[in-house]
Amino acid sequence: MRFAPRRARPREGSASAEASEGRKSFAPSYCHNRFHRKFEIGSSLFRRVDLTLNSSLARAYPNRAQVARIVTEAWTAANLYCPACPSDSIEPTLPGTKVVDFRCPDCEEPFQLKSLSHPIRARVNDSAYEPMIRSVETATAPSFLFLHYDPVQWMVWNLFFVPRHFLSRSMIEKRAPLRPTAERAGWVGCNILLSALPSDARLAAVTNGIALPPAEVRKTWRAFSFLRDATLESRGWVADVLACVREIRQPEFTLAEVYEFEGRLQELHKDNRNVRAKLRQQLQVLRDRGVLEFLGHGKYRLVLAPQVG
Ligand SMILES: [Zn+2]
Repeated sequence: MRFAPRRARPREGSASAEASEGRKSFAPSYCHNRFHRKFEIGSSLFRRVDLTLNSSLARAYPNRAQVARIVTEAWTAANLYCPACPSDSIEPTLPGTKVVDFRCPDCEEPFQLKSLSHPIRARVNDSAYEPMIRSVETATAPSFLFLHYDPVQWMVWNLFFVPRHFLSRSMIEKRAPLRPTAERAGWVGCNILLSALPSDARLAAVTNGIALPPAEVRKTWRAFSFLRDATLESRGWVADVLACVREIRQPEFTLAEVYEFEGRLQELHKDNRNVRAKLRQQLQVLRDRGVLEFLGHGKYRLVLAPQVG
């Protein structure tokens, strides 16, 4: 089970070989730079997350993509906590590890970091299509960490997690094969369709330069962790129906309003013969998990507040 390599093995003496060596050489210093300040707010302690990127790391690397990777990986290793458990750090995997960039030392949650110098849009390029779909189907895909940084001020501007329990076929889009003239002619990549996810699947940790309390992020992660035990089909249905409910943008809504998404859900689940029955079943799952309340007479109310995306 392998994605296309995210980091091609560099040739000896090339700029990327130097970068790779550089990564190895500064990796141990993460621990010395770790920035763990705790602040007492009422009766609870939380760690303030430093959003400053270490721009001095960028000087050694002429390639912009390489700079982004080096600087944001260093920041993540030094500052970011695990959203899935109380661990106040996640650790980089060994250089050359495919797919998984970080792993929690306590709960072992795997993460893939995607860093962008522009706002994160509805569609984000990812690696090869077939391995990605297979990893989603076999529940071996990591959780994602989307980081938008400001390359002028060298600050983390937006950051959100997409827990792997929300990953389903609906959010993986196949791209057209590369042209015959391309270096990797015929290679088929994929896009991650963030627009296909319910807002609950985008767990904001930093919004417009402001870090949210980790306790809030962890609470939202836990609210939907029940999906981890669901089958891929069930997980996809819950996420798709929740995305429709969120799109209504009302705390209270009716079954008739959810039925308006029948065409879209049929398109996403072509083999299903009775979308309405399946849809009602997902609403029951969401009610049983405390996400919705049934008010009677085909009316529903959302219990969890929508997440900031
Ligand atoms: Zn953890």
